Amino acid sequence: MSAQIIDGKAIAASIRTDTSTGAATLRARGIVPKLAALTVGDDASAAAYAESQRKDAAGVGIEYERVALPAGAAESDAMREIDRLNQDSTVSGIILQMPLPKSWDAFALQQRIAPAKDVEGVGSANLGLLFMGREALVPCTAAAAFRCLEAAGVRIEGRDAVVVGRSFIVGKPLALLLLHAHATVTVCHTRTADLAAHTRGAEILMVAAGVAGLIGAEHVAPGTIVIDVGMHRVSVVAADGTHQKKTLGDVRFDEVWPLTRAITPVPGGVGPVTVAMLLANTLRAAERAARTAAPRI
Ligand code: NAD
Repeated sequence: MSAQIIDGKAIAASIRTDTSTGAATLRARGIVPKLAALTVGDDASAAAYAESQRKDAAGVGIEYERVALPAGAAESDAMREIDRLNQDSTVSGIILQMPLPKSWDAFALQQRIAPAKDVEGVGSANLGLLFMGREALVPCTAAAAFRCLEAAGVRIEGRDAVVVGRSFIVGKPLALLLLHAHATVTVCHTRTADLAAHTRGAEILMVAAGVAGLIGAEHVAPGTIVIDVGMHRVSVVAADGTHQKKTLGDVRFDEVWPLTRAITPVPGGVGPVTVAMLLANTLRAAERAARTAAPRI
């Protein structure tokens, strides 16, 4: 039986359709969902990224505001902008675009975003709610990886799941999502003594280690469902000797996919779903704000 290749682009398209429908419903009531992105400095790739976010947001009816602080801005300027956006009732969600100046306390700034507008789901309030299994804005990448798993159409309850990676924005929230779906979860990390011994026991293997090609055939038992969160832009030498840029995952796809029951490719797997998830979270934040806002009289 050949492996099911989980199509992240198709999943993302379906999330966008739902988001678009939800945004149109809000707009019909005179409420415009809006995502605000705070960027610092004049890094060209950050500007290009913001432009692509603007286009993505516009595509589903979400307004986008980029608050661009100059390279010489102080951390207190960023704090002030976050406070302003927190107070601004036209802003549904706020993201803090990385990288920030090295001397800044990125964690403190992130935590300053109001929980109701924390659409990346990385503040302690949303992570705490997720921990308790309550409704939360879930970190986009973890939510995207979980959605890819759901799209494989397999039973999660009672399954042995292994997550490789324990960052608080991907690995840990993913482990919680699996736990809430009643999987039996093992989390592996850099101090795990024998990674392959654990991953070979997985029926569901979710990899978010940030190490290109970490997982190979030796790590995977036949019939495993593999979700690869890793994303690495690398330079490879093509057959004609030219250098080309390629996007690779944490999983050696070519050798692993024949073993699997279902697998996400990189690119075209978790990545596009993550982008769509940010917009979906923004809509959710806007819907919630609309529910809690005082009625207009
Ligand atoms: P991170 O560096 O913060 O965390 C990596 C985790 O993997 C750590 O907990 C570490 O203990 C573990 N790890 C590292 N090497 C390991 C090894 N050899 N064996 C076992 N565990 C190991 O990274 P992150 O922010 O959680 O991101 C993980 C990956 O996901 C990265 O490749 C990143 O590029 C990718 N990512 C993808 C998207 C997307 O949209 N697809 C979004 C965010 C991050």
